[in-house]
Amino acid sequence: MRGGKDNDSVTRAAIIIGAGMGGLTAALRLSQGGFRVRVIEARAEPGGLASGCVFDGFSFDAGPYILLDRPGLEWAFSSLGLSLSSAVELHAIDHVYSVDSAEHPAINIYASDAKTAAELGRAWPGSEEKYLRFVERTRAVEASLRPLLYRTAPGPLSLLGGGRWHHLSFLLKSLQAIFRESELPPAVVDALSIWTHVAGQRPDQAPSPLAFVPALIHSVGCFYPKEGIRAIPVLLAKAAAEAGVDFHYSTKAQRILSSGGRVTGVETDQGELLPANVVISDCGIATYLRLLEQDAPRSRKSCERLLLQSPGVCAYLAIKGEMRPPYLRFLLPGGSERCRLLIRPASLDQREVSDEWSAARLLGPMDHEKAQKMGPEGQRHYMEKLLTEKWWQQGISEFRVLSKRTPAEWGSEYSLARDSMNPVMTAKFMREGRLAHRSPDLRGLYLAGSATHPGQWVSFCAISGVLAADCVRQDLS
Ligand SMILES: Cc1cc2nc3c(=O)[nH]c(=O)nc-3n(C[C@H](O)[C@H](O)[C@H](O)COP(=O)(O)OP(=O)(O)OC[C@H]3O[C@@H](n4cnc5c(N)ncnc54)[C@H](O)[C@@H]3O)c2cc1C
Repeated sequence: MRGGKDNDSVTRAAIIIGAGMGGLTAALRLSQGGFRVRVIEARAEPGGLASGCVFDGFSFDAGPYILLDRPGLEWAFSSLGLSLSSAVELHAIDHVYSVDSAEHPAINIYASDAKTAAELGRAWPGSEEKYLRFVERTRAVEASLRPLLYRTAPGPLSLLGGGRWHHLSFLLKSLQAIFRESELPPAVVDALSIWTHVAGQRPDQAPSPLAFVPALIHSVGCFYPKEGIRAIPVLLAKAAAEAGVDFHYSTKAQRILSSGGRVTGVETDQGELLPANVVISDCGIATYLRLLEQDAPRSRKSCERLLLQSPGVCAYLAIKGEMRPPYLRFLLPGGSERCRLLIRPASLDQREVSDEWSAARLLGPMDHEKAQKMGPEGQRHYMEKLLTEKWWQQGISEFRVLSKRTPAEWGSEYSLARDSMNPVMTAKFMREGRLAHRSPDLRGLYLAGSATHPGQWVSFCAISGVLAADCVRQDLS
């Protein structure tokens, strides 16, 4: 029942469920391939987790706060005939982040590898050279493996080209093993693996490609769009509408309809039956756990087994006071406590101090299982606890809490199955293959978005949408 060549197709009508980053790029790509494309989106606007929100006149990104993979997003844009740099004004971030901890001096990561390494060397003699060697090594591996990001389900054979097989042992290792080889001090390793803390991965489970982040920061750099990450999906939705994609907002897909093992359409929560011979779902595991009317035992079972990532708690703030970089301030409290993160877009404006109110966010990543056990009440308490902590209030003369989100609230506002934004990308999950773009259960069903790509970044979701659409175009050509 795999979605192989489908020569019987009469119509080329596609429905995309969800206008997140993956759904939007899939919609545009398919429409450019001559498909009649309808997007069904439960919310009143495009963007999903990457959309914006306004509280008390202050604009925020709902979820994402940084572009760590500009080349990936550029690849997706150029596949769609768009130019990222002409469409979005991107701020290059110099002082990207700091990690505070009670046990050692704050660790700072800058765009410059030399500056970062020199500061590390002053605190931990000998680590300057080790850091530069580590960055050099991972930069070379990243460059060699990058083409695989742009393929659907790259298997072991894809390592054969371009000398990539040299990196097989790197790929088979965990992030922890790669850091062990670097011989960097544990405190530095903790700061470099901060993205695993955010994503809810244990370094011994996390895949080795997460070690590419410092290399990306020091080579292509990290960026924040002048109008926020939220500007990106808005732009994609506009391009898709101009290309003829028909958007149905505030409409929820209730079921994916099928007959004889192939997709026939989608039933909406308004009782409409929309016919289609292709459905691309941008809803991740919800596709198999909630939307399929027929049993999809294989995919359902594999979704049941996956470790899931919680969106955590988030407070949307208005603050006054010190606006000195870094852009991101992390705290690693130690023990089994997860990190916390203060995000201040106004720190990118080169103003040292501001007596004007500006938007900021306090994020608390959470372990998915723990968050589910705590329930909505426990999650709210956790959010309150983070808001009373003093570390993030340093240099802030006044603050107002404009809104808050707990995992349960993210779940209901963004239709997240089990209040999870996506599966956690463990080394095992990456090796075994993520959720496939082509559903193994139902012909004509495809998946796009964060569940199908290694990592959860907006760039990966955008790439995933292009690849899912290309699978459709290939199967129906
Ligand atoms: C707190 C937080 C911080 C993050 N930080 C970063 C970051 O700094 N950098 C980065 O690159 N990424 C970051 N991310 C991750 C990134 O935002 C997501 O991985 C990405 O936006 C997900 O895109 P998607 O296409 O997979 O799906 P989603 O954004 O989940 O979109 C799915 C869409 O489908 C809709 N939908 C769901 N079910 C239905 C249904 N039945 N019918 C109709 N519509 C439906 C939803 O309303 C939603 O609009 C962060 C995420 C969060 C939550």
